[in-house]
Amino acid sequence: MSNLSPLSPLELSGRLSAEYGAKIWIKRDDLFPFSGGGSKARKAQFIFPEAARQGCNAIVTTGSAQSNHIRVCALMAAQLGWKAHIIIHDTKPSRSHGNHFLTVLSGAEITYCDMPDVASEMDRAMESLAANGHKPFYIWGGGHNLQGSYAYYDAVRELREQWPVEHQPPDYVIFASGTGTTQAGMHAGLARWSSSIKCIGVSVARQNPRGTQEVKKALMELNDYIADGLECPSVRFDDQFNFGGYAQTDTELENFVTETAQTTGLLVDPVYTGKALFALKSYIKSGEISKGSKVLFWHTGGLLNLLP
Ligand SMILES: *Cc1c(COP(=O)(O)O)cnc(C)c1O
Repeated sequence: MSNLSPLSPLELSGRLSAEYGAKIWIKRDDLFPFSGGGSKARKAQFIFPEAARQGCNAIVTTGSAQSNHIRVCALMAAQLGWKAHIIIHDTKPSRSHGNHFLTVLSGAEITYCDMPDVASEMDRAMESLAANGHKPFYIWGGGHNLQGSYAYYDAVRELREQWPVEHQPPDYVIFASGTGTTQAGMHAGLARWSSSIKCIGVSVARQNPRGTQEVKKALMELNDYIADGLECPSVRFDDQFNFGGYAQTDTELENFVTETAQTTGLLVDPVYTGKALFALKSYIKSGEISKGSKVLFWHTGGLLNLLP
């Protein structure tokens, strides 16, 4: 796969480090250089070239109305001059905002349906594009595929190249984990950097055992693709901070998001990165991560999820 991914910044957060009592580095994929940024943009940097390699010139994908993934896919298709047909498993919002607003703005064709009808609607969109002379590429919701995992394997390479040579690798890498794609890439990349790095995916939705199983499945597929014989068996998918499920929140989490903005200027959202940073802080508070540890918080985006 070709590497088209540009750099996102890496920074040492003085404010978070002082507040939490550990050295907190932040990998700023929220600033990833594509409209709206975030981890879905990083995945798309590998998904679209694969589609092009297969001769495609259109995409079909799915997500909720506030999905970061559909916003990125719709805008990237527009950038390439490709047709995009997006299946949204929600009713049409009465007022469009956040990711939904940008998805509509991109000019993508949108079909709204109930969750159980997603697969048949996606098939229909594929057929209809093909019947009109396009060659559509099918993208699972969330960019959950091999290229999506590979994007984060490659992202760890990027991080290694950025990491200051005078520092040892981080003790921990912590981030928001959903479908398992991002986490699979992280495990594969980090295991090849140093076996001492502990990688923790904080669930934003799923519970175990399913959450862990999905990461392992994606990791097996990725390891097969990389084919260097290295396996990375210990997957840590923590479902203790999902606040009841996808997009579920409570006042404690909302206060945490507010406090973080007020005390550090860093924007995290209650759907994804807020849960991950909340977990990180809790690990230090409980002593699971000892004070003075070197922790990398991988900020995966989500600003548009904060706005609605
Ligand atoms: C999708 C998403 C994630 C989770 O990515 P997965 O690869 O599905 O685990 C985390 N953070 C943000 C902001 C996202 O949009």
